Amino acid sequence: MSEATPYRGRFAPSPSGSLHFGSLVAALGSYLQARSQQGLWQVRIEDIDPPREVQGAASDILQTLQAYGLHWDGEVIYQSNNSHSYEQVLSQWSAQQRCYACACTRKMIQQAGGLYRGVCRDKQLPEKDHALRINLHDITHAVEHFEDLLQGHIRLNPLQAREDFIIKRRDGLYAYNLAVVLDDISQGITEVVRGADLLYTTGKQLTLYRLLNKKPPAYLHLPVAVTAPGKKLSKQNHALAISKDNPLPTLLAALAFLGHPVPQQLHQTSCSIILAWAIQNWSLEKLPKRTEIQIKN
Ligand code: GLU
Repeated sequence: MSEATPYRGRFAPSPSGSLHFGSLVAALGSYLQARSQQGLWQVRIEDIDPPREVQGAASDILQTLQAYGLHWDGEVIYQSNNSHSYEQVLSQWSAQQRCYACACTRKMIQQAGGLYRGVCRDKQLPEKDHALRINLHDITHAVEHFEDLLQGHIRLNPLQAREDFIIKRRDGLYAYNLAVVLDDISQGITEVVRGADLLYTTGKQLTLYRLLNKKPPAYLHLPVAVTAPGKKLSKQNHALAISKDNPLPTLLAALAFLGHPVPQQLHQTSCSIILAWAIQNWSLEKLPKRTEIQIKN
């Protein structure tokens, strides 16, 4: 990495519940990847979906990170403060007809085979009360494959990659793919380390970088914890929140999950000693090159 672009990473939880083991793994992996390169590590709360937000979850997540010794740099960033920058890009794209309003419901798309085929592209529907979709008619912008630092070469389904995806929802909420890209750009993120559940949406994000003519970050997708094949631990399936009072056992388990079992003699020490060991010993070679790993919940 050149002197001019110091490493800048982030952890970007949604406040839809407390941290669970799976989200701790993502936080820890991104933290260690940043700190082992003397990089910055920021936290961004992705609070742009009020219906899914749980009261108090954001502060609970931050307290949990602190309890595990995962201290971030600078102020915590809240996506809900960034609407103006999303709107700016949307109005530019709207003026350039790079996006358009769409009246199709999920059901209509399902009935048409599950893939959105640009039905509303030329209808000039009003933006109000409609979803906004990116216009990928010139498919040269659609990213169909990319290199992941852990998972290797990822090939996306070209039909899905070329789909005009939603960037603003009918209910006025900004789509995750839009917000995440604009925020990663404005924060100067050089590498995104997160769970492999987001591996296939990365193509859409890379497409947005291409449209914006911005250099994308590198991507590293960590294995996600599942309770059965394809069933990830999540706040929605009521994964147990992890303990703030007794973080050591969970921290040790998260490091073992990431292929970095901690030597026995450190097991009774402290989070900061264990994290210092992990920063020293962190190596991508040791990470399991898998998209999911089964654990007991
Ligand atoms: N907010 C997303 C989540 O909690 C993660 C976003 C990202 O890391 O790009 O699943």
